Amino acid sequence: MAEYTSNDYLQIFRRVKLHPYQRRMLQIHYHAPEHIMTATQMARAMGYRNWGGANLHYGVLAKRIGESLGWRPLPETNLYVLAEFEKPGREWHWIMRSQVSDALEMIGWVETEQVIPEELDNIETFHEGAAKEIRVNAYERSSVAREQCILHHGCACVVCGVVLAKIYGETAQGYIHVHHLHQLSEIGDSYKVNPIRDLAPVCPNCHAIIHLKKPPYSINEVKRLIADKIIVSEIAVTVNDEKA
Ligand SMILES: [Zn+2]
Ligand SMILES: [Zn+2]
Repeated sequence: MAEYTSNDYLQIFRRVKLHPYQRRMLQIHYHAPEHIMTATQMARAMGYRNWGGANLHYGVLAKRIGESLGWRPLPETNLYVLAEFEKPGREWHWIMRSQVSDALEMIGWVETEQVIPEELDNIETFHEGAAKEIRVNAYERSSVAREQCILHHGCACVVCGVVLAKIYGETAQGYIHVHHLHQLSEIGDSYKVNPIRDLAPVCPNCHAIIHLKKPPYSINEVKRLIADKIIVSEIAVTVNDEKA
């Protein structure tokens, strides 16, 4: 097989303009435990209906990178450009090539990609010690926690159920905010974020609403706001009718 170095991949990442969602796929894969994941997990994280969608989109990306590397002939399974495979159980495992993960580190795509917006608010209200603040922020700033959250929970908003790609198309595939469910004031010194238990995927709209008050609304409170809204809009319609 063709052997390319981390540096070769790095050059391609620098040179080829990838779509935001293609970068997101690489980041999700990178942040999966030991860089190993299945197509089903990728589908959930990116909002694809099933593993076939993940195969297709990740395959297209792999093909593009393979072609840019000059890999000829391209492996029959294009994904081989990015990953090696193992089938320990029912499903194939995608194991990210170390050259790819190294290149992602070198280009800096896998560390501080996303800052979770509430950190900025929390800094204002947080008085219990700078060390804790820095530690929690460091956790949330690193995309590790958020991507592990999305890997587990998927990219649909837990409040309103929206999948952003259904509205905005492919550029939004896999894009979602992550909300930290605990207030920093509740958090003890030994606190360590558990990405599955302590973080929840929420769309930017619901996230903004959650933070309309301090301390923030809970997920269930905002769900109830949405339910109540139906009544409010019915009232609005009635009012308009009366005017007319
Ligand atoms: Zn939402
Ligand atoms: Zn939040």
